[in-house]
Amino acid sequence: MKNKENARASIIKMLIICIAIIFGLGLAVKAGNIQVNSVKIELSDHTELNVMTSKTKVSEILNENHIIILEGEKVIPDLEEEIGEDKTIRIVKESEEITISQTSNEEVKQEMNDILNSYAPIVEKIVVEQVEIPYETITKDNSGGNSNTRNRVIQQGQNGLKEVTYNVKYKNDVEIERTELSSVIIKEPVNKIVQVNVQTSRSGVRTATTNPAVESASSIAARVKDVTPYVVTMNTSAYCSCAICCGKTNGITSSGAPASSWYTVAAGSSYPIGTVIYIPYFSDKPNGGWFVVQDRGGAISNSKLDIYMGSHGQALQFGRRSLECYIYEF
Ligand SMILES: [Zn+2]
Repeated sequence: MKNKENARASIIKMLIICIAIIFGLGLAVKAGNIQVNSVKIELSDHTELNVMTSKTKVSEILNENHIIILEGEKVIPDLEEEIGEDKTIRIVKESEEITISQTSNEEVKQEMNDILNSYAPIVEKIVVEQVEIPYETITKDNSGGNSNTRNRVIQQGQNGLKEVTYNVKYKNDVEIERTELSSVIIKEPVNKIVQVNVQTSRSGVRTATTNPAVESASSIAARVKDVTPYVVTMNTSAYCSCAICCGKTNGITSSGAPASSWYTVAAGSSYPIGTVIYIPYFSDKPNGGWFVVQDRGGAISNSKLDIYMGSHGQALQFGRRSLECYIYEF
């Protein structure tokens, strides 16, 4: 009994599915035969609607879009007619009817363009804009004619900014003339200064094959991502701001800035203040091994580096080490 009932239920299911498929196909075929047009309806207030419709009779299209014709309005083509080639229905006030029906849309457009072009008033506006002032690059040649040179950027260039007031003339919303009335400098540009130096041959110096700055998240490294460092082994020691180390205790470096641990190093005069030095030995320290030359010292020659530390004890503990250093001259 149960099996029979199940079988019957299955057949009924199958039938329902078949009917659904046939019905679906029928609809699809029907849909395929219907042509849908985009019709433009111009209302009497000159607003325009674009509607999609399968209907072609004017009254049916208007009904479909709930557009009611008021007294004193006229529909072109007539309500009982089919829409024409231009697929446009115009609703006009009867007083306007004559002019519109006499002049085609294209002619009206052309006429409007002619009028605009010949009679468009020139509009003048005062426009204030911020304009960048590009920096200049100044080269200081210290090479004395020597061909073996190395360029060093001793000051990075920065664009300036000015606020310029223009009188701008427009015709048909197109700018035709611009006259500068005044300009106020907001920020002076900073010149880029490049020093051309004789390449000094330092013993034990090699150009780095990779630039550790590229991989580093350090903000110091970010400044030198584009600079190729050279590698040199230096005799390093450490110091603090005590009287024993510095002969004074104010902690102010030769750069004028206070010394900071894991930042400040003291180097010889061939390393300009601001030179970035990466020391892989300190890569697990808070600065990731990135230092900036901020200080000088009487006993510091060009092959020596003195690393500033927070306490005299730390400095003593560090002692002296021969460490590989990446020098970024930029
Ligand atoms: Zn000290």
